[in-house]
Amino acid sequence: MLFDFAVIGLGAVGSQAARVLAQRGHSVVGIDALHPPHESGSHHGHPRMLRESCYAGTPYLDLVREAREQWSRLQALTGRSLIEQTEALLIGPPESGTYGGTLASAARSAPARGWRHLASGEIREMFPFLRPPAHHAALLESDGGLLNPDACIEATLGLCGQAGAELWFGQPVLDWQTGKGSVTVETPDRRFRARRVLLVPGPSAAGQLARAALALRIQRTVQHWTRPGATEPGISAAEVRGRWPAWVWEHYPGRSWYGFPPGPLGVKVGLHLGNDRHCANRKHELGKTAATTAETEAMEQVLGEFAPPLSGGLYRSAACSYSMTPDHNFILDRHPDCRRVFLFAGGSGHAFKFAPVLGRMLADLASDRQDGPGTAPFRLSRFAN
Ligand SMILES: Cc1cc2nc3c(=O)[nH]c(=O)nc-3n(C[C@H](O)[C@H](O)[C@H](O)COP(=O)(O)OP(=O)(O)OC[C@H]3O[C@@H](n4cnc5c(N)ncnc54)[C@H](O)[C@@H]3O)c2cc1C
Repeated sequence: MLFDFAVIGLGAVGSQAARVLAQRGHSVVGIDALHPPHESGSHHGHPRMLRESCYAGTPYLDLVREAREQWSRLQALTGRSLIEQTEALLIGPPESGTYGGTLASAARSAPARGWRHLASGEIREMFPFLRPPAHHAALLESDGGLLNPDACIEATLGLCGQAGAELWFGQPVLDWQTGKGSVTVETPDRRFRARRVLLVPGPSAAGQLARAALALRIQRTVQHWTRPGATEPGISAAEVRGRWPAWVWEHYPGRSWYGFPPGPLGVKVGLHLGNDRHCANRKHELGKTAATTAETEAMEQVLGEFAPPLSGGLYRSAACSYSMTPDHNFILDRHPDCRRVFLFAGGSGHAFKFAPVLGRMLADLASDRQDGPGTAPFRLSRFAN
């Protein structure tokens, strides 16, 4: 059979692109090496954060607002619990990009929707388990969101099936070849033909499969879970159930960490950007799921300094991969050497929240519906020179 579209990789973004195309009535085959959601890509580890304020003054702001609407729509359509409202904090000293930079962009573009400035003392008062130094401050966003990544992907794949997409799991794509009017996609035991191919393989886009140098750096990053109050009497059960935001905190220049409200697994915390030296990034360590002792110690050190009531109780960890582009913007473009192939790659640690919109944009591009300014920041040509 000749499909209209083959989507390679059915994780956060690929599943959404397949859904959009199938719901528009195209014949779609979706192929994944594993069975998403799973723990070998970039999408695992409940929950994912959705926040707007950090995108003030950038083209991402409209996209994140569209994405929030899409997640709510998908939630209503599927009856699954995909998105939950929460407060979100961006914390740092005034000179930090995370706090100061965002504040400046927000002031310029003035799109505030329930955003509020908090001084260090106010942060401590409202969220007593956080201990910012006196010169740190925060932007509080009342309408942040928590996404359940497994449920989001399962629900989206369910919609793909309902819309008639053919889904193949456990089929690692080894290669693809362009022919006259179609592209052939090869797995160890099958061949699929499609007029156009969407390549959305997450961190694997850095390998041979993309057949293009995409300037991606795959970075191991570890998520940890702690049970506050279990080992440290500094926080009460009421506080655990009470007001609790998600946060990203630039604790030292260029280095940040994050935390989430308590969920079924406890409180998720992790080191975010600028902490590469604390991550086991040697080749043989990239595929390991559990944290190394050095990674756990680095996390404990940050908790001990900035959120002591959360320290001492890390009981679970899961390594995951960021696919970083040099400018941390995504890649969403036509393949540089093949007009029938379209790419999404370089989630750069923040693509999950945008997945329904990125899927829609990729589907639009691949079906010649739009190649407008929306994709301009994501074109490969920006890396030329
Ligand atoms: C620890 C961590 C925390 C994060 N936190 C957030 C957050 O709070 N908010 C946010 O917005 N984003 C966050 N992100 C980023 C976000 O999760 C990723 O950007 C997003 O999952 C990328 O989606 P993707 O579809 O490109 O890749 P994936 O979701 O990894 O999907 C790729 C799929 O391709 C498949 N595949 C790979 N190779 C092949 C092959 N050869 N053949 C067939 N299939 C193949 C894989 O099996 C996989 O299912 C976080 C990422 C990490 C690692």
